[in-house]
Amino acid sequence: MMTTPPALLWFRQDLRLADNPALAAAARAGAVIPVFILDDETPGLWKRGGASRWWLHHSLAALANDLAKRGSTLTLRRGPADKVISALVKETGARAVFWNRQYEPWAIARDTLIKDKLRAQGIEAHSFNSTLLREPWELKTGSGGPYRVFTPFWRAARESLGAVELAPEPKSISAPDTSPKSDSLVSWKLLPVKPDWATGFSPLWTPGEKGAQKRLEGFISDGLPLYAGNRDRPDIEATSRLSPYLHFGEIGPRQLWKAASAAAQSGGQEKNADKFLSEVGWREFSYHLLYHFPHLPERNYKESFDAFPWNDSETNFRKWCRGQTGYPIVDAGMRELWTTGTMHNRVRMVTASFLIKHLLIPWQKGEAWFWDTLLDADLANNAASWQWVAGSGADAAPYFRIFNPIMQGEKFDPDGTYVRKWVPELQACDTKYVHRPWEAPDFSRLRYPAPMIDHATARDRALKAFETLPKAT
Ligand code: FAD
Repeated sequence: MMTTPPALLWFRQDLRLADNPALAAAARAGAVIPVFILDDETPGLWKRGGASRWWLHHSLAALANDLAKRGSTLTLRRGPADKVISALVKETGARAVFWNRQYEPWAIARDTLIKDKLRAQGIEAHSFNSTLLREPWELKTGSGGPYRVFTPFWRAARESLGAVELAPEPKSISAPDTSPKSDSLVSWKLLPVKPDWATGFSPLWTPGEKGAQKRLEGFISDGLPLYAGNRDRPDIEATSRLSPYLHFGEIGPRQLWKAASAAAQSGGQEKNADKFLSEVGWREFSYHLLYHFPHLPERNYKESFDAFPWNDSETNFRKWCRGQTGYPIVDAGMRELWTTGTMHNRVRMVTASFLIKHLLIPWQKGEAWFWDTLLDADLANNAASWQWVAGSGADAAPYFRIFNPIMQGEKFDPDGTYVRKWVPELQACDTKYVHRPWEAPDFSRLRYPAPMIDHATARDRALKAFETLPKAT
């Protein structure tokens, strides 16, 4: 009896079995060969950073395990994806390749090329949406262009969404008679050694689909009721911490939408759910911007910023990276990032603003540091957020709104709990001074650096620099 040739299911940033439309379609059609390709060449500048590789290792181990429980084997291959896909199609006699779409400019170019090549050989190529609520090309302004402002974008996205349906999770996945050879995950050396700077990650994070679902359930019951009122407080656990899971596609926005909507309807959480989903909306908006303005990660969205007189000091940049600026909220954030692979959103805004406006260091340098150290490093969210803080982005904070790191600390970490946790030098500092320790009578005993630049001086300098820009800004 002739058996139908298998299909390749190419996992990328969709490392889950539930609500995975490419997997659901491939599994319906017959035998499936699931594949993940480590491609460090095609992304160029934007190959995965160090923290992201740690996550990927654990996420792939979890995915392989989940697939094995359904009778399927994950094949791992390394190299430029177009070459690897061609080789695998040849080796396995695959009749089709299924995947879920990505929106990074390099990924779009790669996928277009692969689709054309496959179709030219008579191989089917099917792509799906697992990552976004709405595709970036589906939403257009009244004049037919892309959205540049969040509020009308999100209104249009919500209004056009309709009923949110999840792709069915396959109970079993039929395997081909023989599976192709696979690299061993360990041979990819994704985990850091000598030094192992990721020891602080494991106690906090459980990469993989199960970890994502558990985190979502925990958030809906404990975090969501606090969300609208406390999401800006780094000293309170009120946000979901789902961003790395979302980046790797271990959970998708449709699942979040369903869970938050259910909590709104039956749990009286309308206001909190609405606020939470609007943050998911910022993620959608970032992807919309990246798709329509593919230079967003490298170049100012507002070209008038190209003339900005930066003061790119490597010494100052290093102090910022290491959390040695002398401003407790900034240093706490940068140290939290290094130890845990994440940083609270409010503190990301404050640290980014400090780098750009107090130190006049180009936002691209901060973006690159975050890219390497964040577990949720995501091209769309990272680029759009850095440009938002800089004032050079779409619908961005105006440049002249310069965060005061002392007031931000006092407002959002009023007891100093967050800064004391990450800046142990301030453990014994009186709460009155914890965000301005240089004013404390015992400052010299704290062994904490004095501010690297006075806030008022930095503010004036930044505003003067901004005034030199052409007026279109
Ligand atoms: P929640 O408050 O629980 O929000 C739920 C989800 O909505 C998040 O998981 C995230 O996917 C999305 N979201 C929330 N806030 C934003 C936002 N402002 N912009 C876009 N999406 C958002 N987020 C990343 O995922 N990857 C990045 O590389 C990244 N870099 C950033 C850089 C800077 C300078 C700034 C200011 C923000 C950045 N963010 C980035 C956005 C935001 O800080 C994180 O998404 C958020 O802190 C994640 O925590 P959470 O999952 O608890 O968020």
